[in-house]
Amino acid sequence: METTPVSEDCCVKVAVHVRPLIVDEKLQGCNDCVTVSPGKPQVQIGTHSFTFDHVYGSTTGSPASSMFDECIVPLVNGLFQGYNATVLAYGQTGSGKTYTMGTGFEDGCHIGITPQVMNALFNKIDSLKHQIQFQLHVSFIEILKEEVHDLLDPTSPNKSDTASTGKVHVSGKPPIQIRESSNGVITLAGSTEVSVTTLKEIEACLEQGSLSRATGSTNMNNQSSLSHAIFTITLEQMPITGDGSTNDVMNEEYLCAKLHLVDLAGSERAKRRVHINKGLLALGNVISALGDEKKRKEGNHVPYRDSKLTRLLQDSLGGNSRTVMIACISLADINAEETLNTLKYANRAR
Ligand code: ADP
Ligand code: MG
Repeated sequence: METTPVSEDCCVKVAVHVRPLIVDEKLQGCNDCVTVSPGKPQVQIGTHSFTFDHVYGSTTGSPASSMFDECIVPLVNGLFQGYNATVLAYGQTGSGKTYTMGTGFEDGCHIGITPQVMNALFNKIDSLKHQIQFQLHVSFIEILKEEVHDLLDPTSPNKSDTASTGKVHVSGKPPIQIRESSNGVITLAGSTEVSVTTLKEIEACLEQGSLSRATGSTNMNNQSSLSHAIFTITLEQMPITGDGSTNDVMNEEYLCAKLHLVDLAGSERAKRRVHINKGLLALGNVISALGDEKKRKEGNHVPYRDSKLTRLLQDSLGGNSRTVMIACISLADINAEETLNTLKYANRAR
């Protein structure tokens, strides 16, 4: 088994995505409470100042359109070299997580990260398909109250029928289990893995899962603010040999890597004593342990096992994998307290 060098720089990159005031906030007479230093990845709120890897949005931050090239393209390229990766959108409800990830499948003109990843993947696959045989699989799950739900379950009844029952295993299937193989690979047992060969097919998966999540949320009193949605793309590669056949899985050149695109639960819950989101707390601890160079070298304990979320992402956070956290914040002063909390949380990751 070949060993891959651990990247020199920190394995977690943190970007902030600042969203402008929405109509509702303007009508309420909200003012901006966040300033971004022109040309610097710095954010100020009140007397606090934070520096991140990138700051996008607002009039003085980098244009949001450069986020994909700067933060996400390296992860997509890494997939082709066999590196797992995770993109996390963190922030309070309404801060723009779903907008940023593009997992909501709603507005027409804005294209979020997930659709752009799918495009970039297929472009790259197209350019390499004569040398390499690719297999792509996707899964789309939601973690709610420490239970994993399948957003691509084909046997799930028509969503309109689930209004009274919510989506508590309506299909009668056993709950999805997170498993770890002897070589540390995390898999989900019992979730739907769709094999996709075209852009259309992968787009259909995103749409189906997004609708499934949205429908669940209207019925179950805004679950999407309580749950983590994880869209996972697995890429398998086998070089095509001279005679046109492919090598098999035993071949050293076989590569398999996955990219998790995560729309996290609303962070405001993490601060309320009554309803602490286990996943967000554990994620903060894991990421801060990974970011702490000194502790990492001492081989300290990274508490992956504290939640379903961190357990599921275990083989794609830290080690050789690449992680980007996008902290989503609003400019509006009514959100100042949560915005400060978000920036503090994101700051722990650095
Ligand atoms: P969250 O998923 O964090 O709850 P959403 O992504 O649903 O938040 O965003 C809340 C609202 O703000 C939506 O109407 C969305 O279209 C809008 N919005 C979010 N981010 C931006 C942005 N960067 N620019 C313009 N509108 C945005
Ligand atoms: Mg959302």
